[in-house]
Amino acid sequence: MEDIFCKIVKREIPAKIRYEDEEFISFDDINPKAKIHILLIPKKHIPSVAALEDDDAPLIAKMIILAKKIATEAGMESYRLVFNSGKDSGQEVDHIHLHILGGNRLGNMA
Ligand code: AMP
Repeated sequence: MEDIFCKIVKREIPAKIRYEDEEFISFDDINPKAKIHILLIPKKHIPSVAALEDDDAPLIAKMIILAKKIATEAGMESYRLVFNSGKDSGQEVDHIHLHILGGNRLGNMA
């Protein structure tokens, strides 16, 4: 199903893109919850963590390693990576995305 992040992948809506390769795209969150708030998504449409299949394991491993590189590239030594999954967690966009948050001291959450 087409969602707002699929539209960013297809350049149908604008975003401040930080990184892109064949499998992933990363861009600034439009409503940042930290001084630096970047999103990293696979181009493949997977609705959420809850929808992951065993075969997606390599993709998700790559995603976390890539998030580390994107955070470092953005100048962060300390950062938080967050996946929301499901409405009660706060997930608003049904396309799996990893939040990369930092640039200031973050409050305790987990
Ligand atoms: P979540 O609540 O985990 O689903 O996170 C969705 C995130 O996407 C929120 O932090 C939104 O601010 C962000 N967001 C929604 N639309 C856009 C957009 N067009 N460009 C960049 N970030 C967006």
